[in-house]
Amino acid sequence: MALSVIDLCRDVLPQTNCGDCGYRSCMALAGMVVSEKLSLENCPHLDAETIQRCSRELAAQYSQGKWLKRDMAEDALFWARQGSAAIDIEDLPERIGGKIVERAGQKVLELPYFNDVVHIARQGISKNDGSEITRNEQVFLYIHMARGGSAKPSGNWKSLKEFPNTVSKVVSMKAHVEAPLKEKFSGNPAGLAKRARKIGGIDQTGDYGTADLAFLFQVLPRVPVMLVFWDAEPEDGFEAEVRLLFDQTITGHLDIESIMFLSERLKDLLC
Ligand code: SF4
Repeated sequence: MALSVIDLCRDVLPQTNCGDCGYRSCMALAGMVVSEKLSLENCPHLDAETIQRCSRELAAQYSQGKWLKRDMAEDALFWARQGSAAIDIEDLPERIGGKIVERAGQKVLELPYFNDVVHIARQGISKNDGSEITRNEQVFLYIHMARGGSAKPSGNWKSLKEFPNTVSKVVSMKAHVEAPLKEKFSGNPAGLAKRARKIGGIDQTGDYGTADLAFLFQVLPRVPVMLVFWDAEPEDGFEAEVRLLFDQTITGHLDIESIMFLSERLKDLLC
């Protein structure tokens, strides 16, 4: 018999809401067990026989996907794969760059990605060394494959807020990309420059008048990103400033969610 959150809370857990499991109530732990496969062993007040009996019932309902929280990343990957399923890999270099190479007897797109290379084949995407990339990165690359037009970078840089429909994302960009970079590198532009070079950034500081640093990152062959940094000037009351700039053609290659993804990925690599 399947165990719902209510069944588990009412018939199995002690209902003392003691918090020893790290959750504030027995109901909260029951929710995690049913929807996210958290082990019942997290409640230290259950005997081994009860845990064993319930675990058998839970395993059966997990295998049917009953009451399990949906795996959003898996859904996104399925959707993104579907969107690019009809694409002929040999057409891709013309649109998104990279080159076709032979691997194990089949044609594969070799695509520069940050300071690495990925291989895009009909059955999936892998790193240069054959290892898998994360699901979120796969979604990002499938979206680029499906959306990528043939426009080459124009050299006209824009901040996120200059693209349409980005109001809510501008807030996320400040909170999740610019603020952590400011915090990490305020007073340490040399540290930022060192890190930027290490992940393949090209120094463009001379081209950005008042900026203390400007680095160009070739995220994908058709998708460059510019990071511009002004260091703090405490004596004048100025905090450090960080801005990411995108080529004006970027929305022909990526949707806004994907632009956010690459920005956060760049921040993670720098930090
Ligand atoms: S440790 Fe057990 S009894 Fe205590 S709150 Fe968690 S589930 Fe309930």
